[in-house]
Amino acid sequence: MNSSVITDSETLALREFHPFKTDGVTYLYMVPSAGIFRMDGPSDAILEALGKGPKVKTELINELSGQFNIDLLLETIDELIEIRAIGDIDAPKDLVPNDLPPVGFPLTTMVLNVTNKCNLACTYCYEYGEDKIVDTKYGNQPKFMAEETAKESVEFLLEESRGQDVAHITFFGGETLLNFPVLQDTVAYARRRAAEEGKRIEFSLTTNATLLRPEIIEWLADNQIGVTISIDGPKEVQDGLRVFHNGKGSYDVVEPKIKELLKRHKTRPIGARVTLTQKNMDVLKIFRHLTEEMGFWEVGLAPVTTQDQRDYAITSEGKDDMLEQFGVLAQEWLECALNDEHHGFSNVKDTLEEIHKGVSKAYGCGAGLGLMGVATDGDVSLCHRFAGSPEHTIGSVTDGIDRDKQGKFLVDHHIASKTDCHTCWARPICSGGCYHEAHVQYGTSSHPNLHYCTWVRSWTHTCLEIYGALAEKNPKFLNRFDA
Ligand code: SF4
Ligand code: SF4
Repeated sequence: MNSSVITDSETLALREFHPFKTDGVTYLYMVPSAGIFRMDGPSDAILEALGKGPKVKTELINELSGQFNIDLLLETIDELIEIRAIGDIDAPKDLVPNDLPPVGFPLTTMVLNVTNKCNLACTYCYEYGEDKIVDTKYGNQPKFMAEETAKESVEFLLEESRGQDVAHITFFGGETLLNFPVLQDTVAYARRRAAEEGKRIEFSLTTNATLLRPEIIEWLADNQIGVTISIDGPKEVQDGLRVFHNGKGSYDVVEPKIKELLKRHKTRPIGARVTLTQKNMDVLKIFRHLTEEMGFWEVGLAPVTTQDQRDYAITSEGKDDMLEQFGVLAQEWLECALNDEHHGFSNVKDTLEEIHKGVSKAYGCGAGLGLMGVATDGDVSLCHRFAGSPEHTIGSVTDGIDRDKQGKFLVDHHIASKTDCHTCWARPICSGGCYHEAHVQYGTSSHPNLHYCTWVRSWTHTCLEIYGALAEKNPKFLNRFDA
């Protein structure tokens, strides 16, 4: 809408945005466009006046004409209408991005579950624990992906990543390194085939680190494989829930192996991925141990996915505590960023990148669209967490994607279907959240994760404040998110 269509007698009202302040400066986070705008004296005053209720434009100008020049007020009203912060009281709300993605949207990341077997028995594991959705232990799926299936998966990715110069393969498990021979063959094959097709493939994997040994570390470094280590923190924390099948803790096994990996593998940054539970909530201690004592470049922490009745499920007080500690690390991260220094708390970096890029999501994540998981038998599912679940299978690497099934998934999971989210200012970033979390909590992947709303909004607000502070004091730091 443009000011030229609003006459002086029409009534103006606030539209949808989330305001936040940094060092006394007000910013608006626009919903649903995800744009961010800095306010000044006149715009602040106009928003404050309309915050008390809608006003006829002439009345609004009269009310503020003692403080500001009328031309400046008119110009500012025009600008606020342009960014959709204010508008005609009767104008329809901009609810959500409406368009469905085109059929054949390219695949950019394929997660290969090279095995569903694991040498650890972590209590909270979504694959083997109490909330599992696929019977990986007694089910029909092979325990290990065959070399042939992995090669077919590579061909599938090359075909489905049409138009993209770069595609990504992430190896996953079970414990990924239990199928090391297939990893080696797949990387060599994918590199050769990608070169023939004029593409590049990047590789990464997630491992529990128990099986790292010198020749594997050498191979990871030489092949520039990005590595994420699943680890929960110092010995007393790690040994509480990340245990072998005989109940023995895994810290003493993984600690020297991780240190060796970090010493030798310098071709890609190595990250740690922590699962937080009610039994391990000392975020600051965990973070400091993993960065300062272990030497990880970055650490990402995520709350466990589980039903509320489990004794390790995070309580609402626990979520508040987690948020407070995240806030402390976020402030540290900001201090470092203001001095152009690195800080390893990747949760901030990931959210800031989305804010900077103006991401306004129609889907909680890329699963079933730009990202898919491949089960050990070659079935293609929404993502690695659904690998092997018939209900969430949308094709196979040999037969391709079932476009009808994928199309239905895209309609059912679109933000337009999540009416609970339509009044939430955080929906450009959240869009209902993780489908797997929703499946565990509500029995269906299409349900918005309403149990996490307060947390998501608080965390997004914190990251917006950090973004504002950086934009104000060290804007060039944000350039790194342009890539
Ligand atoms: S799940 Fe909650 S926080 Fe996320 S978009 Fe929906 S209402 Fe907002
Ligand atoms: S559904 Fe959840 S686990 Fe799967 S890719 Fe999306 S966010 Fe990740």
